[in-house]
Amino acid sequence: MPTRHLTDSYAISPQIAVQDIADLKAEGFHTILCFRPDGEAPDQPEMKVIEAAAKEAGLAFAAIPVKSGTVPSDAQIAETRQILATLPAPVVGYCRSGTRAGQIWALAEAGKRPAAEIFAATERAGVDISRLRTRIERVAAPAAAPRKDAAHFQVLIIGGGAGGLSTAGSLLKRNRNLSIGVVEPSNEHFYQPGWTLVGGGVFQAAQTRRKEADVMPKDVVWVKQAAKLFRPDVREVVLTDGTVVSYDALVVATGITLNWDAIPGLAETLGKNGVTSNYRFDLAPYTWQLVQQLKNGTAIFTQPPMPIKCAGAPQKAVYLSCDAWKRRGVLDSISVEFDTATPGLFGVKDFVPPLMEYIKRYHVGLHTGSKLVEVDGPNRKAVFERKVGDNVERVERTFDMLHVVPPQSAPQVIRESALSGSDGFVEVNPATLQHVRFPDVFALGDVIGTSCAKTAAAVRVQAPVVATNVLAFLKHQGPVSEYEGYGACPLTVENGRIVLAEFSYGGKLAPTLPKWLLNGQKPTRLAWWLKKYIMPLMYWDGMLKGRELMVAPKPLNAKKGG
Ligand code: FAD
Repeated sequence: MPTRHLTDSYAISPQIAVQDIADLKAEGFHTILCFRPDGEAPDQPEMKVIEAAAKEAGLAFAAIPVKSGTVPSDAQIAETRQILATLPAPVVGYCRSGTRAGQIWALAEAGKRPAAEIFAATERAGVDISRLRTRIERVAAPAAAPRKDAAHFQVLIIGGGAGGLSTAGSLLKRNRNLSIGVVEPSNEHFYQPGWTLVGGGVFQAAQTRRKEADVMPKDVVWVKQAAKLFRPDVREVVLTDGTVVSYDALVVATGITLNWDAIPGLAETLGKNGVTSNYRFDLAPYTWQLVQQLKNGTAIFTQPPMPIKCAGAPQKAVYLSCDAWKRRGVLDSISVEFDTATPGLFGVKDFVPPLMEYIKRYHVGLHTGSKLVEVDGPNRKAVFERKVGDNVERVERTFDMLHVVPPQSAPQVIRESALSGSDGFVEVNPATLQHVRFPDVFALGDVIGTSCAKTAAAVRVQAPVVATNVLAFLKHQGPVSEYEGYGACPLTVENGRIVLAEFSYGGKLAPTLPKWLLNGQKPTRLAWWLKKYIMPLMYWDGMLKGRELMVAPKPLNAKKGG
């Protein structure tokens, strides 16, 4: 019988037969543990038959039947833990293939030994526990001392994008002597909010890219790797090259993942056949090229289900393209569609009326509840699943130009870590941005699982809050500053005018400037001017350098500190 050891005292086996028991005894096992309910297969020996044979051979026997394809219940996990603690070891657990016996062991051991050890043991034994990783990691193992050979930083920042570098800047502004490590694998840093303007022919792509080395603060250590595994129980992060880095406080800012492969046919046709996206640096210029070339036909713009970064960006592409076609006098010859998987045009209702005016002005066919599910680039066909009443219809459309915004999710390394909440994003207190289970962990930007908008404008306000709360934590104090959910979305409704949506948690309006100067519910030239000239400056020379213009961290309202 092929047994596979997870530890010296526990092994797994596929279904055993009466004649295997002598071999198991010879291998040294003292207990047989059955996880397979009777009657799963016609050739399966009944539990009571195995039990009788085990007892006859002088071995202990117990059974916790787990239905195939189900996750063991908490009661079954507790019972397994109890049996492993009381019946004589070594124990061999069996089911049909051994997988259930391995998975339930992993769940029973979670919290008793470090998650990494459980993962290594199951991997060695060939047991797939990918669906259980988060659950196992969430149960913190007893803290072990950080490894002595690990590089150590007072503050370790994961991600050198908008959130990571702004936080580094805000920390250094307050304490130049902190030891800060920034883990960032990319050689390039992008000003992503500029990509809409690249797709609209207003910016050159090069204006939105700088070398990471040029924006990395001089007083931090740039660790040019990606984080592979978070071990918050021992305050360590494992990097892709296997290096271990430890910290006193951790700041997670890895952004959101764009899932181009989630739509069959999309990845292979991007950048050709009229298929483009402003969500990639290299493709935004192609959007503008297509807009300039199109004289007639059908142009389709898509938006996936939430969450996405900059929820207004999919429709910004619609408006700027339509504006260019209108100026060239070809808009009437182009049929424009906007298919959004969301139930409405924009999440904050106060901004919907001015946007709807532009939808009408440009004669855009608006389809809400419509999700792009397939692309056939060479034949220029896009397939949508559209909600019609209670039904979902599959609709095939041909296009001359297709602007796609891909589905988005929390990065895998976060989803599979103990840091994630049920949505896969980092679970932080929405006000303090401190992790709800690990007080030495903070997070900001697109990777956090709060209801705020995933925008650089939000990051600008979050970074000083995170920096001050991290510094308080290092002084053994509770959080001192709070974030009220501010986010902004400059909706470029035409070349020269913007509806500047600014709001906080719960969709509450949060204008920065007085209404007489800038009314966010109307298209204004001032907002366009801010977007085109001021915001890029505020990004490169303001927030990335810790200059907190008009974003002084707000003292924490004690009720939200929890
Ligand atoms: P990012 O800036 O994306 O940075 C994440 C960093 O983490 C990256 O450098 C990445 O390399 C790194 N990383 C990833 N995984 C790992 C890992 N495992 N280990 C280490 N490092 C890792 N915002 C606005 O405010 N206004 C706008 O008008 C606007 N328009 C937009 C238009 C478009 C087309 C797009 C794509 C975005 C737009 N945004 C806008 C959104 C804005 O760019 C993001 O919200 C902002 O960049 C989020 O910052 P972040 O630090 O969370 O993520």
